[in-house]
Amino acid sequence: MEPCLFCKIEQGEIPSEQVYQDEDVIVFKDIAPKAKVHLLVVPRKHVSGLNDLLPEDQQLIGKMMLLLPELAKQQGLDDGFRTIINTGSGGGQEVFHLHIHLLGGNALPFV
Ligand code: 5GP
Ligand code: ZN
Repeated sequence: MEPCLFCKIEQGEIPSEQVYQDEDVIVFKDIAPKAKVHLLVVPRKHVSGLNDLLPEDQQLIGKMMLLLPELAKQQGLDDGFRTIINTGSGGGQEVFHLHIHLLGGNALPFV
């Protein structure tokens, strides 16, 4: 089966503007930013979305959550930031490899 888009980015087969990486997680700029800062926090492991997380992924998802304020600080988002996880087509998910959107740097619409 053809690897998914974010697996290809993780493998370096498709270029991306990476801002962080470690053995479990990569972070790169969204190709169509919806705010001044718009990053995607992506596990190296292919998980399709929140519905497919397993109990064994608890440490991984915890690590991703803890990384968010670190990244926000690194990006100068001192007055706050927004995180979004779209799940399934009904939730607006377009790329079926789990990712957390990190947005900020300008006024965001209320949700
Ligand atoms: P979703 O709608 O699945 O939550 O978000 C997918 C995000 O991936 C979108 O914000 C979209 O702009 C971004 N995206 C789609 N294709 C690419 C790509 O090839 N490179 C990068 N960096 N981002 C992408
Ligand atoms: Zn994938």
